[in-house]
Amino acid sequence: MSEPRVEIADLGAWGSAALLAEYDREDDAIRVNARVVEAVRAVAGSAEATRFIACAIAHERFHRAYPTASEEEAHRSARITCGVDVSCYEAIIRERFRARM
Ligand SMILES: [Zn+2]
Repeated sequence: MSEPRVEIADLGAWGSAALLAEYDREDDAIRVNARVVEAVRAVAGSAEATRFIACAIAHERFHRAYPTASEEEAHRSARITCGVDVSCYEAIIRERFRARM
């Protein structure tokens, strides 16, 4: 099976629902939100930012493999693969950008 392209990209500003990453089926590309990577690095360090990227890729790869699967299933798969729940990154983002939202 082919592999998707992976990019760290600026996915734009976020509102209350942060976009951590996306899978673009047309381009077969996983894009991880560069602003979130930077926020995690600033709050929790480079190692955690790397772990976030791995977690986001695992999540989007699940969507790629199982297009009709639910968001919950994608979260569960990424948690099993990476040993971390994506909600911890959502908490970091909320804290980091509280003042700007
Ligand atoms: Zn998802």
